[in-house]
Amino acid sequence: MASNPIHCEIDLGASGKQTGYLRLPHSVHRSAYGYLPYPIATIKNGEGPTVLLMSGNHGDEYEGQVIVSSLIRELQASDISGRLILLPMANFPAAREGMRTSPIDEGNLNRTFPGNPKGNPTQVIAHYIESVLMPEVDYVFDLHSGGSSLLYVPTLLLLRQTDDQNMEIKEAVAREFGLPYTAIYGRDDEGGFSSAAAIRQGAIPFTTELGGAGTVNRAYTQLAKNGLLRALVRLGVLQKELPPPDYESRVFPNDDLVFAPEVGMYEPLAEPGDAVNAGDPAALVHVPETPGKEPVEVTFEKSGMVLAKRVPARVVRGDCLFHLACD
Ligand SMILES: [Zn+2]
Repeated sequence: MASNPIHCEIDLGASGKQTGYLRLPHSVHRSAYGYLPYPIATIKNGEGPTVLLMSGNHGDEYEGQVIVSSLIRELQASDISGRLILLPMANFPAAREGMRTSPIDEGNLNRTFPGNPKGNPTQVIAHYIESVLMPEVDYVFDLHSGGSSLLYVPTLLLLRQTDDQNMEIKEAVAREFGLPYTAIYGRDDEGGFSSAAAIRQGAIPFTTELGGAGTVNRAYTQLAKNGLLRALVRLGVLQKELPPPDYESRVFPNDDLVFAPEVGMYEPLAEPGDAVNAGDPAALVHVPETPGKEPVEVTFEKSGMVLAKRVPARVVRGDCLFHLACD
């Protein structure tokens, strides 16, 4: 495959803290020889693991961007044993506009791995992250949130592979992270997610869902930042004294999604953090377009904990209303 056209301004192998940009050549009407500047930083000191910290994979998920940006400012090389690579706006054009997908090419970075060095900007940055950065990386943290359409209670997503040899370290990191919930996923290394990319390149992935609804929740951001720092200490890449986790994370081995059954206006009957039983009412979908029509009741098909609800009221058939963690 062709080499990747991105030029990294900083030396990823150099010691100390460096900040700069990944330059992705982008020739458009207003700028014939321009580039898209994806912010990047490295903090390296001595021997130890390399950890990739990503946010802004979906550009409308803000908590992670706040956390990764603050770590770039606050962590010093003397805190580190090994190396951090930090990408606060992984799909930069999407993050700049506060959109889930890129306004340039409609690309959803977290469905685009392994990418294509000759493709559109989202495909090129996906290829760079998977084929240039990840082969040098031991652990990947990709900080997601609910974005514009969902609101989560802070949750760590753990991927369990077939015959997973790394579950011990994954579960240890989940305990240190100390988010209220941990949802375990069974997925393999196929597919366009950053977690699948990490596995293909021999790295161990961790994903979060932190808040959302197009806002930044201060309490969630602080909780997740402290959890991430404890996780980095557990992995041996950070030397720091930190307070213990606030939560003993509740672990769920399965999950389920609830969808809108038709067009209308959805009224949630459950909130993130609620425990629900199969058969409980989940939502009403009102149909004001049809006078006299009763709202359609949606029920939960499984028992579990509501991790996320949809935020905007208008729905069409197929919109996701709830994400449930299940036993
Ligand atoms: Zn996301």
